[in-house]
Amino acid sequence: MVLYRGKYELDGLAAISPEMEKDRDLAYDICQSLRDELPCEMCGRCCHQPNIIVRPEEVDRVATAAGVDLYTFMTQYVYQTGDGRILFNKPKDGACRFLGKDNRCTIWKDRPQICDDFPYMVSMLMSRVYLALTNPEADIMKLIDYMDDTWPCTRDIKARIAGLVEEGRNKRNSC
Ligand code: SF4
Ligand code: SF4
Repeated sequence: MVLYRGKYELDGLAAISPEMEKDRDLAYDICQSLRDELPCEMCGRCCHQPNIIVRPEEVDRVATAAGVDLYTFMTQYVYQTGDGRILFNKPKDGACRFLGKDNRCTIWKDRPQICDDFPYMVSMLMSRVYLALTNPEADIMKLIDYMDDTWPCTRDIKARIAGLVEEGRNKRNSC
């Protein structure tokens, strides 16, 4: 596994070649343009998902924002998986404990990076955009079939992504 831009996990790779990095950058730019143009509608759907990861370097910041000491945070707010990842514990209703009644995050400025990245800048989407850019036979709509398009953001991604991938392919071919 390698890290692209220091935080996006690329499984199954030992290194990124300069050519691959160029294509990854193109995929990154497409995802960033979606993020810039489609602001989050604060529906709160993603805050009901499992697997909200807190990176080790974020633990202190999130614990402070939560208003608890480190011991309380590590024993009551998160749990560690077998492979060492730190994930939020969720209450029984499945909502993140930091989700307010108005669907706003109560620790917004200190939320984990994955919350800030979702759904535009996550590895999963960028990897699929990369695959579609580098393989003319690949259908981006099939690659992102996993996305639930009843969510505002994923609905918008599905409406825009095919055009952006086509533009990206043309840009790539003209270089
Ligand atoms: S599901 Fe999408 S639109 Fe809704 S809160 Fe999450 S990022 Fe925002
Ligand atoms: S920390 Fe905030 S943005 Fe992240 S899942 Fe919880 S409520 Fe949502």
